[in-house]
Amino acid sequence: MLTDLPVLVLNQNYQPLNVCNVKRAVILLDRGKAELMVNGRGYIRTINRPVPVPSVVRLFHMVKRPLVQRRLSRRAVFLRDRYTCQYCGKETKTLTLDHIIPRSRGGPHSWENVVSACIPCNHRKAGLMLEEVHMRLAREPRMPPPNPYYLFQHRHILEEWRPFIPWAE
Ligand SMILES: [Zn+2]
Repeated sequence: MLTDLPVLVLNQNYQPLNVCNVKRAVILLDRGKAELMVNGRGYIRTINRPVPVPSVVRLFHMVKRPLVQRRLSRRAVFLRDRYTCQYCGKETKTLTLDHIIPRSRGGPHSWENVVSACIPCNHRKAGLMLEEVHMRLAREPRMPPPNPYYLFQHRHILEEWRPFIPWAE
């Protein structure tokens, strides 16, 4: 269905905000909430007038984007730590997740309490506190900054969208 095709919605400041379908985008245009940026698909013929089939629209008002929390996963932690053991500094693909304050002592499974550790360091630390094993962290672990382009992560990027997504070269 033509009305189900994806449309890139830009915020008032031209930043990609989300993706909706043609039906929703036409409503936004019709109600004067958005302007047509790219009409890459021609027109739908209606009784009154031809209606454009947008591929990119821009909102007239600024939408405050909620801060998206980065989902905690093994891969995401390894990437944050650049595949480097946070105890000995060794760069390796065979990493484990280590809870700084052990789970057994009530340590949370959070960005701030989880680091990449090589197998020897993980064995050495085991279920102990850093002070008990005289180990030290390379750096304070934090949640990585939100990725403004997360909305395209599992999506096919249309040719007409590319000028509005600077990172999509
Ligand atoms: Zn190590």
